[in-house]
Amino acid sequence: MKHVAVIGAGTMGNGIAQVYAMHGTSVVMVDVATGALGKGMEAVRGSLARMVKKGTIDPGAADAALSRIATTTDMSALGDPDLVVEAASEQPALKFSIFEKLDATCPPATILATNTSSISITEIAARTRRPDRVIGMHFMNPVPLMQLVEVIRGQATSTATTGAVMESARALGKTPVEVNDYPGFVSNRVLMPMINEAIFCVMEGVATPEAVDTVMKLGMAHPMGPLMLADLIGLDTCLAILEVLHRGLGDDKYRPCPLLRRMVAAGQLGRKTGQGFYKY
Ligand code: NAD
Repeated sequence: MKHVAVIGAGTMGNGIAQVYAMHGTSVVMVDVATGALGKGMEAVRGSLARMVKKGTIDPGAADAALSRIATTTDMSALGDPDLVVEAASEQPALKFSIFEKLDATCPPATILATNTSSISITEIAARTRRPDRVIGMHFMNPVPLMQLVEVIRGQATSTATTGAVMESARALGKTPVEVNDYPGFVSNRVLMPMINEAIFCVMEGVATPEAVDTVMKLGMAHPMGPLMLADLIGLDTCLAILEVLHRGLGDDKYRPCPLLRRMVAAGQLGRKTGQGFYKY
């Protein structure tokens, strides 16, 4: 990929822009908010500076990466990208309208990828006239450090598109894993029921949050316990993903724990609000 557009300059968007720029690709990063673009570029600068300090990259490479990223608030000024990676906020209506616009303005050959955590790739693709060139490219947070890219094939995604996106992820030094488009894909379908069950353990008085996390860390060699991870992801996000699994798969085994609902209703969303299963 010579030229890539990234839609959204938030947590994920700026990380995706950074890794492409570090691998020689010219990037245009788009956001509706000028402030978000400034913050996004600040995050890229900070991440590159930490890498230089650690000796992972040299200062020249960091400067070159920065110089490859342009920013704009104009969705029609993408400069004919080979690939678009959409990383805007997780709202179905917003993503549908972004893909309609991208389909109308990008050259027919451009691959349109979404970094969504839970919205159906097939439904997003159906909003375009090129469903064979629409795909999920699920990067993990923090993007510059995490090895995995979950590549999600929608109902109509072509083998050529899948191959090109897998190759593009490998060129970034990542490991892509191909999965099919069902609610939660693999990552959240496996992770969220574990987090939900950990919350049931707390609600039913099986153990304290500290005890649950210690069992999983020391007993299962997880780097972080499920409740601390839930606090990091955001309890509102966990609840939203569990609702997608419950609704989309129609099985009560995905029923969000009432304690999770109660904490979200109380505004205890984890790290971002200073209170979740732990105090921050
Ligand atoms: P974020 O809130 O940090 O950033 C979203 C950005 O999108 C904001 O800067 C917002 O201004 C911008 N935006 C909103 N509407 C837009 C539009 N019409 N055009 C351009 N930009 C627009 O969110 P995030 O955490 O970076 O998540 C982005 C996507 O990545 C979501 O789909 C999320 O589910 C997915 N994701 C997040 C994580 C994570 O850990 N944060 C991990 C994997 C995937």
